[in-house]
Amino acid sequence: MEFSSKLLERAVNEMSQLPGIGKRTALRLVLHMLKQPKEQTFALSEALQTMRNDVKFCKSCHNISDTELCEICSSPNRKEDIICVVEDVRDVMAIENTSSFKGLYHVLGGKISPMDGVGPHDLNIESLINKVKDGKINELVFALSSTMEGDTTNFYIYKQIQDYKVFTSTIARGISVGDELEYADEITLGRSILNRIPFESSLKL
Ligand SMILES: [Zn+2]
Repeated sequence: MEFSSKLLERAVNEMSQLPGIGKRTALRLVLHMLKQPKEQTFALSEALQTMRNDVKFCKSCHNISDTELCEICSSPNRKEDIICVVEDVRDVMAIENTSSFKGLYHVLGGKISPMDGVGPHDLNIESLINKVKDGKINELVFALSSTMEGDTTNFYIYKQIQDYKVFTSTIARGISVGDELEYADEITLGRSILNRIPFESSLKL
């Protein structure tokens, strides 16, 4: 792509670093910004900078948060003895949208995937095990996507906490095998949380 301006080229190059944005789309977006009032572009760049600088991860559940303890963890209206284990922040959003779950979450930050070099220690698993060891958790709900990596991760955690007094369940498989949680429709996902089944029985299927 030949550019008439180095400044334009630089902006397009930066924009095209984003996933799913090729050079052409980047050019279209940047040209759009040049047509907009300057303030709009400044507001965008300021929002991104502030987010990058100030956003935090909840010290308890690892959800993205503006405060040390996220809104969910600090809410008095949530059941603190039930924790839904999810892969990432988008899954918290997807489950929250269903309004079917009133417990807390634990965001692992990924799944165990030896193929991609992701082991248990690369994820927020230890802090989850510690919560169980503290004895205040009655139920863990595994809500990872139904993939081989998801199953491996569930099983790894299950093995670690097996000796502690905690009930483990897994979301009902209204979620089809291989599906990523965030793409499931709200009703299916909501129902699969409500109809969760004991984790042990999911192992026998
Ligand atoms: Zn939290």
